[in-house]
Amino acid sequence: MATSTVENYIKQIYALQFEQGEGGNVAMGDLAASLGVTPGTATSMVKSLAKSGHLDYVPRVGVKLSESGERLALHVLRRHRLVELFLVETLGMEWHEIHEEAETLEHAISDRVLERIDVLLGNPEVDPHGDSIPSATGSMAKRDLTPLDQCEQGQNVTISRIEDQEEGFLQYLESNKLTPGKDITVTRRDGQAGIVSVQFSDGNQCSMGFPAARKIQVELCG
Ligand SMILES: [Zn+2]
Repeated sequence: MATSTVENYIKQIYALQFEQGEGGNVAMGDLAASLGVTPGTATSMVKSLAKSGHLDYVPRVGVKLSESGERLALHVLRRHRLVELFLVETLGMEWHEIHEEAETLEHAISDRVLERIDVLLGNPEVDPHGDSIPSATGSMAKRDLTPLDQCEQGQNVTISRIEDQEEGFLQYLESNKLTPGKDITVTRRDGQAGIVSVQFSDGNQCSMGFPAARKIQVELCG
């Protein structure tokens, strides 16, 4: 089994590759900065990951996961996201406090326990933040999501994924009931003021600025 440091590097490279779109290399400077290590530390780790076949490393160009590296990344994400859902659904923990726990547990949990959790939760497809959970074979559902600030007035949408999972922001969403699965209608979009207002199915309203709305991804309904 890979060490937690190896898994964290692989996971981070996967996330950065995902952010910048298909096919790109991740620059070493970006990788080091996102992991909070010096470029020298990142480079020596990356060289050893290249040796074990998890990625391709080209000096001055950057790194890219190999097929086995990608498989490992998806497996770590599966553990992380199933654990998060388990902490909320089964242990009743708060939505905003589970990420840190999952960061530790994702490296410790065995496949046997993980698959039991998957069955217990009914083979779920998304975690509590709305991120897709990769299947045991490493496939992940692709969804067509739109940031809430770009939705038109009158549009009916379902909150699907929270882009920014920082604790304070999650607490704000939780206290305003802006959580994945909620159906809302965009009742007002003021481009000059930078404000979006939404209405819940129970009639309650909520307004927010574009920066907050941008971090809430929704699925458009008919
Ligand atoms: Zn998390």
